[in-house]
Amino acid sequence: MCLGIESTAHTVGVGIASGLEGTKILANVSSSYSPPSGGIHPREAAEHHVKAIHELIESSLDIAGVDFTDLDLISFAKGPGLGPCLRVGATAARALSLALKRPIVGVNHCIAHLEIGKMITGCRDPVMLYVSGGNTQVISYQWGRYRIMGETLDIGIGNLLDKFGRRFSIPFPAGPKIEELAKGGERMLDLPYSVKGMDVSFSGIFTSLSSMQGELKDLCFSLQETAFAMLVEVTERAMAHLEKDEVLLGGGVASNLRLREMCSVMARDRGGELHVPKRQYCVDNGAMIALLGLLLEDQSSLDLDNTKIDQNYRTDDVEVTWL
Ligand code: AMP
Ligand code: MG
Repeated sequence: MCLGIESTAHTVGVGIASGLEGTKILANVSSSYSPPSGGIHPREAAEHHVKAIHELIESSLDIAGVDFTDLDLISFAKGPGLGPCLRVGATAARALSLALKRPIVGVNHCIAHLEIGKMITGCRDPVMLYVSGGNTQVISYQWGRYRIMGETLDIGIGNLLDKFGRRFSIPFPAGPKIEELAKGGERMLDLPYSVKGMDVSFSGIFTSLSSMQGELKDLCFSLQETAFAMLVEVTERAMAHLEKDEVLLGGGVASNLRLREMCSVMARDRGGELHVPKRQYCVDNGAMIALLGLLLEDQSSLDLDNTKIDQNYRTDDVEVTWL
């Protein structure tokens, strides 16, 4: 039984996963920091996590109906993410490991999204479009690693939505409101469509939109249509190259119904299928960290030497030994 701690950005979460008789998620609780104004301040988010984590650990145990002593393993998100936030999760995980004398393992946040998506939806060998605030990657398994087939060269798609929201007075997180407004949009405005090889770039879209005149609903509509089309193009090219027919969505932006629709049409046209986990497993969560902890159990240790955080931890740095 593994307790996993997520704290890469604005959400701190604790999950418990059991590996006996098939993997099961026994608890998944979280608390999110949302800034009163402006973007996420890493130190303020970390302070929020410090205040929340104790209660989250207790309530995860209550919900799972287990005791501290039932835990066999502790995992935490080692990266990628914001340094001050990552340190809160790592510190709590080290404290639990020391106090309970249980091994600890640090795991990759992006791979955790992918593995929980597979477990929840039942897809087997997907191309994952991972779309969150800070991260935007197209990930798939090939030759012993999860390869980054394409990614953003600058800001994450969620970050684009939230920056746009700040510019036009839409409160954080702006994604849901932009989705709502876009439904009324009619005019497709000309925005930079930046696909560079397999990578995408969003900052030009933001710059263009910032100085554009026009109705907000049209700006939202054009933003979504352009940015999502770029993502779907790269995802489709990865599927064609790898000859895979499952698409898996993950990250907070996966909640967007227009993005789902576009991915679903693309997948169906190729004879494939779209998979989207329930929202609680799409967004940052502790359950995915606990699940990946179980998969990486053979790399866990009682020694804390290997528990440093890595803000730039790459998806393809991890050798996939569990498939
Ligand atoms: P994450 O970083 O994975 O926790 O996801 C947070 C991001 O998801 C924020 O940038 C939100 O604006 C974005 N988001 C949440 N709901 C939606 C939605 N319905 N449409 C688009 N983006 C969304
Ligand atoms: Mg995430």
